[in-house]
Parts: sequence; C-alpha cells; structure tokens
Amino acid sequence: MTYDVIIAGASFAGLAVAAQLHGKRVLLLDRKPIGAGQTSACGTLVSTLETLGLQASIRQIHKQLVLHTPNRTFVYPVANDPFCTFDYAHLCRLLRAQGDAEFIQTPALRLDRHGVQTAQGAFAGEIVVDASGWRAALGGNGRPDLIREDRLNFGLETSADYQDEGLHFWYDPVGLPSPGIAWAFPARDHTRVGVGSYRGETRLKGDLDHLLDDMNVRSDGFHGGYFPHALRAPLADDVFLVGDAAGQCLALTGEGIRPALFFGAHLGVLLRRLLDGELDRQAAQQQYRQLVERRRWGYEVLCLMQRTLPRLPLPLLQGLMALGAQPLVLNQFMRAYVQAFRLDAPGRTPAALVANA
Ligand SMILES: Cc1cc2nc3c(=O)[nH]c(=O)nc-3n(C[C@H](O)[C@H](O)[C@H](O)COP(=O)(O)OP(=O)(O)OC[C@H]3O[C@@H](n4cnc5c(N)ncnc54)[C@H](O)[C@@H]3O)c2cc1C
Repeated sequence: MTYDVIIAGASFAGLAVAAQLHGKRVLLLDRKPIGAGQTSACGTLVSTLETLGLQASIRQIHKQLVLHTPNRTFVYPVANDPFCTFDYAHLCRLLRAQGDAEFIQTPALRLDRHGVQTAQGAFAGEIVVDASGWRAALGGNGRPDLIREDRLNFGLETSADYQDEGLHFWYDPVGLPSPGIAWAFPARDHTRVGVGSYRGETRLKGDLDHLLDDMNVRSDGFHGGYFPHALRAPLADDVFLVGDAAGQCLALTGEGIRPALFFGAHLGVLLRRLLDGELDRQAAQQQYRQLVERRRWGYEVLCLMQRTLPRLPLPLLQGLMALGAQPLVLNQFMRAYVQAFRLDAPGRTPAALVANA
C-alpha cells in the first residue's frame, strides 16, 4: 500500500504534523517507542500547550526567569506569558491521540525509488516528512552541507532531587564551558539541571558534576544531545523538513519545542490541503518555504546574539541584562518572542491556524 504521508521521527515535530492529518493514511516511524526518548528540559510557554490542547502534560508553571551571573542576579517577571515544564511522555501521548497515524518502531535509513527504506523494509508514500531531529535522517542523506557541525550546540542534562520556582539560567565566563550556559528547570518533584555549549563541545560531564556539587544536590542519569542554532533549508528535494531536522531550534535560548510544534502543526495543515486537492505540491512547498522565511530575520538576530554576547566584557553584558529587565524592554521583547510562534487557534481547526501564520 502507498501511504499518503510518511513521517520519520515521532517527537514534537513529527507528532504535530500527524495530529493535523486525522483520517489520512499516515505512517509514523521512530527508532524508539513514542515518548521514550526525552532529550530536553521540556520547558516551553504555557500558551503553546494550551492552544494545542496539551496542557494536561504540564508539571509546573513558572512566572519568572532568573539569570545568575558571577556577582549579580537578574529576575525577569513573565506572568503575562508564563512558561512551564511538562512531562515528555505524557505530551507525546496526548499529541499522538489527536491523530490516527499507524506507528512502526524502526529507524528510517534513506529514501530511494522504492520509498523510505527502514530496518523493516521499504514503505512507499506520496509525501515524505523528515522530523528525525538534528541528524535529518532522510533529508540529510548525502548532503553534508545540510548538517553542518559548526551550526550545532550541545547540551547535557540530568534530573536533580530538589524543588524550586522559576526557570533559572547561569552565565559565568570562567566557571562554565565557554561559550556556554547552564540551566535549572524545576518540574514539581524534581529539577532538570543542564549545561550547554554554544560551540558544540560534548565533553560537559565534568562541568555538570561541578555545578551539581555547587548546588549540593544528587542527580539521576544523564541525557542530552545536539540542537541546531541555524535555520536549514525547509525542503530537501521533495522531502519536507521540520523541527530540528530543519534547524528550527532557536539560537541563544536553545528553545526548539515551540518552533517544532508550530512548524509541525502548520506543515500538517498544508499537507492536508495538498491531499484534499486544495493546493498542488508546488504551492504547498512554496507556502511552507514562505512560512519559514518570514521568521528568518528573528533566527538570524538570535544567532548573532549567541555569537557576540559571550564575547562582551562581563560588566557590559550585565548592563544589557539589567536593561532587559526594565518592564518596557522586557514587555516588548516578550511580545515579539511569543508572537513569532503564536498558534492562534486550537490545533484541530486547520484553516484558522494557517490563516494567521
Ligand atoms: C539537553 C537539552 C535540553 C533542551 N531543553 C529544551 C527546553 O527546555 N525547551 C525547548 O524548547 N527546547 C529544548 N531543547 C531543544 C529541543 O529538545 C529540540 O529543539 C526539540 O526536541 C526538537 O524537536 P524535534 O521533534 O524536531 O526533534 P527531536 O525531539 O530530536 O525528535 C526526533 C525524533 O526522531 C527520532 N529519530 C531519530 N533518528 C531517526 C531515524 N533514523 N528514524 C526514525 N526516527 C528517528 C528520534 O528517536 C526522536 O523521537 C533542548 C535540547 C537539549 C539537547
């Protein structure tokens, strides 16, 4: 049988695409069981999860961001657009239930004239979506230009046994991998503590252990991985790329969940319209490209900030951090930050979703 859509990768981006394709013949492929492969601190905006009907997965709501530097701490109140930490497996279950895709646990290996080759044979599909994360298993095949190592950040994270309020970040040009940051995201009964390198440095365990010692907390296991900090092409030949596979994770903040859900939901809507004959393939590709391109400037600003801010002398940087805490500046910044990926209508009313993109 030929599927309408084959989606490689069943995490934020892949599940968000599938959720918009209820009633179509959709095949989801993932090398792991759905919801089993948490790599992130799972912090995002409450409004994103509410709009997509995923709020039941929220573990804790955060009304402030706290930025720690060597001798000064900055508090950013965000009660108007609060953040949250959520349960990854629960969110995946909820998102999966919004669609009715068939799921096969197997790695997608490559695309050839028979279809998507997997460890369990080839599957044919009219449309192929690569939502397999930064490696872009299908779109990146044979395209070293797509997956550039110098465009990858790396993060290592653990779960620590303490409770707190707010999303915390540390910037210390001496005590952390340079250039890089650390974070602690409380999630009700535990806190997700991590260290990230803006240079893609992977040997971060010593830095993370050091941070945990300073905090005097015990931790449980480690997870992590790369996350891109530069937009890639949204299409590789006819394959649609979405989420980290398309480099849609934001630089500086490392926020990739909201973009993956946002672009995933919109791509799902476009593919539904393509399958329903409302759009031809070329128009769907063009609309998807435009959706991404309209946000390119924002990606580039954050990329520039990631490259330049860690090079500034600490007092100057602290001056900018203090300026950012001023209500007028903070409100303007948050408005733009939230608006860039705002989903204005519930996820299952596709036309309204794209109309506002
Ligand atoms: C340590 C760390 C902490 C982070 N914290 C946050 C955070 O708090 N908030 C935030 O917004 N972002 C965070 N991020 C970034 C965020 O995790 C990613 O941007 C986000 O997961 C991207 O979603 P995705 O669906 O595109 O890809 P992924 O979540 O990476 O999912 C890819 C899926 O594809 C599957 N897959 C891979 N290869 C294949 C294959 N060959 N065949 C089939 N399936 C395959 C994987 O098993 C996985 O299920 C963090 C990243 C890291 C590394």
